[in-house]
Amino acid sequence: MSFADLGLIPELLQAVTEAGYTDPTPIQQQAIPVILAGRDVMGGAQTGTGKTAGFTLPLLQRLARHANTGTSPAKHPTRALILAPTRELAVQVFESVQGYATHLALRATCIYGGVDMNTQIQTLRQGVEIVIATPGRLLDHVQQKTINLAQVEMLVLDEADRMLDMGFIPDIRRILALLPASRQSLLFSATFSDEIKKLADQMLRNPQLIEVARRNMVSETITHVVHPVAAGLKRDLLAYLLRNQPGMQALVFVDTKLVCGQLAHFLNRSGIAADAIHGDKSQLQRTETLDAFKSGHLRVLVATDVAARGIDIDELPCVINFELPHTAEDYVHRIGRTGRAGHKGRAVSLVCAEEKHWLLEIQKLIKFEIPQEIVLGFAPGTEVAEAGGRHERASRAEPRGKTPEPRSKVAKPRGNRGGGARNEQIAADGFDFSRPYVPMPRSLPAEPPPQPRRPVAVLLGGLGRRK
Ligand code: AMP
Repeated sequence: MSFADLGLIPELLQAVTEAGYTDPTPIQQQAIPVILAGRDVMGGAQTGTGKTAGFTLPLLQRLARHANTGTSPAKHPTRALILAPTRELAVQVFESVQGYATHLALRATCIYGGVDMNTQIQTLRQGVEIVIATPGRLLDHVQQKTINLAQVEMLVLDEADRMLDMGFIPDIRRILALLPASRQSLLFSATFSDEIKKLADQMLRNPQLIEVARRNMVSETITHVVHPVAAGLKRDLLAYLLRNQPGMQALVFVDTKLVCGQLAHFLNRSGIAADAIHGDKSQLQRTETLDAFKSGHLRVLVATDVAARGIDIDELPCVINFELPHTAEDYVHRIGRTGRAGHKGRAVSLVCAEEKHWLLEIQKLIKFEIPQEIVLGFAPGTEVAEAGGRHERASRAEPRGKTPEPRSKVAKPRGNRGGGARNEQIAADGFDFSRPYVPMPRSLPAEPPPQPRRPVAVLLGGLGRRK
């Protein structure tokens, strides 16, 4: 099936060709004709499936009859509203809309919090047909009467499950109350919890359910691996793994903003160029960091789930879960950043004993067992005696930017190579529960500044004088 078979107009077919797409993805094949026919849609699709084009292309086609080059703001009322949970996702959708609308005289803008409202107000005043917004900032504009939603014909709620997680559902309900009752509505979510179904009942009329087949939930081009690891050695293992793949870009996920910043700091101190992106960073900082990562200038990006929404990088080779997410669906979201559009990807998870139940939940959701590989020297249970010494070795002894010889081989958990009685206690699944659990530090200990190296000549001179 081609895009032309889906009934898209020439302006959109041209844009799709320019984007380099040859065939529609499964979600696009299903969603585009239904949305073109004017029906409401409840779409179950993960990121990485092509869902953005799946709703943007037919949305543009339905608005194409309003396309005009008039200068009066009255000629450009807001006709489509796309709500996204985060700034990053909103920007990503906006960029898609801009790309696909290249050959149509339709205006689009993106409004999100954390930046000055005045520029957004100027743009809205001039008239704009498509508004992509985060819920909070949209309501700010509603309150200030700088946006009029009375002529909205199409509403898209993207990543509704994430909206729920982030507490946006009351905001969404307030926004729904401001929209005309006769409109087309599309809701996309990776999961359909009872709460999402309740929202869908309120928002959609006789929706067509479109779900990408379960087996596509995790891209088949991604290789998964779990490294069981002593909690206190996680960051050293991370540094070790990154050093053994010099030049490979990686997106590293953590659960909290605190660990996010500290881990990036630790990696930099270990000679691995890294930066952090999380909700407390300013929009400008986030944009700059993302741009550096997207352009390949930054090697490692450490991110929280929320900040990573919308990170869309072609050919990102590796996603690393420094900490497992607490909901299995987030694992799918996270690793969906790699292995995109047919490229190969690697999903690495560093898992300590405390996280084992989350691993089981993830495996239940993705319906397969992730292979476990212990990196010798970092196995669960080794941190009690060795954490301090290893930390020194992993973080500072190796010169910056130089890849060390591997200290250990990657071993299968059942191998028990050279570990003697200690390793025999390690359970078949890689975790040793006979040791008391040492919790992961809430905050990573501060690194002392590295000692400046003294030039060799100075040392020799000193020795010479003593003689
Ligand atoms: P999404 O699921 O919307 O985040 O899209 C995932 C990635 O797939 C983005 O990088 C898109 O540019 C890309 N993409 C979307 N549709 C297609 C297609 N039909 N063929 C190839 N790549 C696509």
